[in-house]
Amino acid sequence: MTAPDKHFHIPCPSDHIITVPARLLDEELICPQCNSRFIADFAASVEYSDEQTERAAYQWLVIAIGTVAVLVTAGIIALASQLLK
Ligand SMILES: [Zn+2]
Repeated sequence: MTAPDKHFHIPCPSDHIITVPARLLDEELICPQCNSRFIADFAASVEYSDEQTERAAYQWLVIAIGTVAVLVTAGIIALASQLLK
């Protein structure tokens, strides 16, 4: 299934948030509110920064789970070495 007309929210140089269809990314646009020309850059979009925030949160979660897994494994090894003495 494809999303035919995904939209992005990209700020113009004067910080007006413009709704930009995916097919106009990387094109030069004119802000309807202040008439300034700017390039619709995906990296500047609200969606991109949301994605970065989600990714950072996800990476943090992976690190936290990884740390717990290491501690549990170390605990099991310590316990096993105690039992084998
Ligand atoms: Zn503007």
